Amino acid sequence: MTARLFAPRIALSDVTLGYEGHPAVHHLSGEIAAGSMTAVVGPNGSGKSTLLKGIVGLIKPIHGRIEIEGLGRSAISYLPQQANIDRTFPISVEETASLGLWSACGTFGGVSREQRAVVARAISAVGLEGFEERTLDTLSGGQVQRVLFARVLVQDSPLILLDEPFNAIDANTAADLMNLIERWHQEQRTIVAVMHDLELARERFPNALLLAREKIAWGQARDVITPANLLKARAMSECWDDAAPWCEREAV
Ligand code: ADP
Ligand code: MG
Repeated sequence: MTARLFAPRIALSDVTLGYEGHPAVHHLSGEIAAGSMTAVVGPNGSGKSTLLKGIVGLIKPIHGRIEIEGLGRSAISYLPQQANIDRTFPISVEETASLGLWSACGTFGGVSREQRAVVARAISAVGLEGFEERTLDTLSGGQVQRVLFARVLVQDSPLILLDEPFNAIDANTAADLMNLIERWHQEQRTIVAVMHDLELARERFPNALLLAREKIAWGQARDVITPANLLKARAMSECWDDAAPWCEREAV
């Protein structure tokens, strides 16, 4: 929303992320360029959400380093998978969008008139004018996602991480929110979004990372999201099923 922008670059060096010593992302190295827009795709359980949690700092690498140049982790805008959000919590649309102010004014810093105007503009930008007082439990999944995008707008971060932002929402909302993501890209923010819809990822995202617990392909979306690469990712994902027949693959 403001003119300033120093979009950060993210450097991953031999990063292994996981839970209780069990790796979910192996030896990932690469760069997310400043101001780039990257779709992270891959089969279920391929480590996409884990990678975002690693960038945000919710989990520490078991091995390797993740560096975000020029931005403190608290300034990252991060939208987790919708399944993780408690929609029964009695909080209004306006209050939820205002949570985006926290990094600017502290938890109980008080909200200025100017900040209220920022929140109002964000609610209007996601098409929820008139819904300010409604609580989240009265909204559809698509409307809740609009509110969460309003919060991202309010936060005004140069680094935006979105985990399956269009999952289980209506097509109109997905189209509106996709336009908002493209606007953030035009504003030269760095954007990383886990995407379930491969066609959308290929058509609308300049860059893509295909994960299957390790990097299958990373580069321009059209070169990454190809039938051959997807087949390779899927074949690898079949090895993760404990019940699947024993499976061996050559190191890449
Ligand atoms: P994706 O987002 O690509 O579907 P995830 O990153 O959520 O995949 O998960 C990758 C792997 O890590 C999976 O095997 C999953 O079961 C495991 N995993 C994810 N979250 C946790 C957790 N909190 N504790 C233990 N294992 C987890
Ligand atoms: Mg996930």
